[in-house]
Amino acid sequence: MARGLAPSNRERRMRLGFVGLGKMGLHMARRLLAHGHELVVFDLKPAAVETLVAGGAIPAASLGELARQVEIVCLCLPTPDTVERALLNSGGIGGGAVRVVVDFSTTGPTVTQRVAATLVKIGINLLDAPVSGGTNGAEAGTLTIMLSGNEAAYREVRPALEAVGKNFFYLGSQPGRGQMMKVINNTLMAAATISAFEGLVLGAKAGLDPQTMLDVIKVSSGQSFATSNKIQQCVVNRSFPHRFSTALLDKDLRLCLAEGERLGVPMPVSNQTRQFIAFAISQGFAEQDFGHLIKIFEAWAGAQFGTATKQE
Ligand code: NAD
Repeated sequence: MARGLAPSNRERRMRLGFVGLGKMGLHMARRLLAHGHELVVFDLKPAAVETLVAGGAIPAASLGELARQVEIVCLCLPTPDTVERALLNSGGIGGGAVRVVVDFSTTGPTVTQRVAATLVKIGINLLDAPVSGGTNGAEAGTLTIMLSGNEAAYREVRPALEAVGKNFFYLGSQPGRGQMMKVINNTLMAAATISAFEGLVLGAKAGLDPQTMLDVIKVSSGQSFATSNKIQQCVVNRSFPHRFSTALLDKDLRLCLAEGERLGVPMPVSNQTRQFIAFAISQGFAEQDFGHLIKIFEAWAGAQFGTATKQE
């Protein structure tokens, strides 16, 4: 957890709401608090709220109660429909004091555009601001943030975003561009990860040392976030920490493929990746971190990649 970080000159102290204190949101909210921002928080899980309250946040009993107390709300919710309900249903965020919503969730461009068009009519600017960098990046405040929507609203919230992000890309005033970028990124990440699982299990069965394989790939042309980060940190040592559920990754691929369909862009490799993930979900992996999916290849091959170490 980030501690004792005073707001920098660029980081004016702000009062914000934060909704969705899960694997990503909890870290991001903690960093906002640690950077001196005042935070009103809400999650359906009381334990998540209590954790933040212990760190100085103000609890809200409902979305509506939160929306009456803040003008700027950050969201980090799991799926497009949870975001849509939170923003459009009565008793949700609309109807309070809120002027700007910063949506860190991955919802895809279509829902974002629909919701943004509704909210703007009641004076709320929706900034889609999906993030990349995983739970480590959220904890360290080094996320990449892909943002689109009203530029003045972006400039207003940008100082607070410094607490959670390192790489900022403003993709224009049209809502949904950040989401488009994000679902493309995650689809590439998924394809590279599944392909790496396949190759690494082959290498293990052929007798290559798992860590040596990663060391070679990290400085060779087959490298990716999967080999340098995900598999190195979570798979080769068989620790499989729960960072990103297979169900949420599946959601991102579906969102991306829907955009491919909508825009008439064939995506055969992405479709194949999504089919593999659909199979994994049918085998009970939905709520497990997607690192576990290597076990499917291992079962097919009759070989294991990596070994649990005592330190893990
Ligand atoms: P998560 O399931 O761990 O957390 C979601 C949180 O939202 C939970 O605490 C849940 O109780 C809460 N919630 C659900 N509905 C709610 C509602 N109506 N009101 C209030 N709270 C509600 O998910 P996560 O892994 O933190 O992911 C959140 C979003 O960020 C997703 O869209 C995901 O695709 C995206 N994302 C995740 C990662 C990652 O590595 N986990 C990385 C980048 C982006």
